[in-house]
Amino acid sequence: MKILWCWRCRMELPMLDEVEYKKVYELYGKGIKSREGTYEERFKELMDYYEEVTGFSETIPNAIMHHRIAQYGGPCEKCGKPYRTPLASFCAACGNKKPIEPVT
Ligand SMILES: [Zn+2]
Ligand SMILES: [Zn+2]
Repeated sequence: MKILWCWRCRMELPMLDEVEYKKVYELYGKGIKSREGTYEERFKELMDYYEEVTGFSETIPNAIMHHRIAQYGGPCEKCGKPYRTPLASFCAACGNKKPIEPVT
């Protein structure tokens, strides 16, 4: 988990790394498939996990699902805001050119 600027919410929020996101994705899928209980009850496991990892309580499952570090291309070396997309060649916030990652 890392606090990063979210371009969609226009505020700093906890974002999930790939390990955490995988778990959240599972719990989200479970909530979607479940037909029992209210909306809140079905996504309770997801909310509980999110709160446990981030310390923030969130009430909208979709808000959690777009807070994934990888989706935003990681933080800019200069200003710390995410690059917005993994394919961005420069930072949309400060104009810093993204270092070219060595192809492996
Ligand atoms: Zn957001
Ligand atoms: Zn930047």
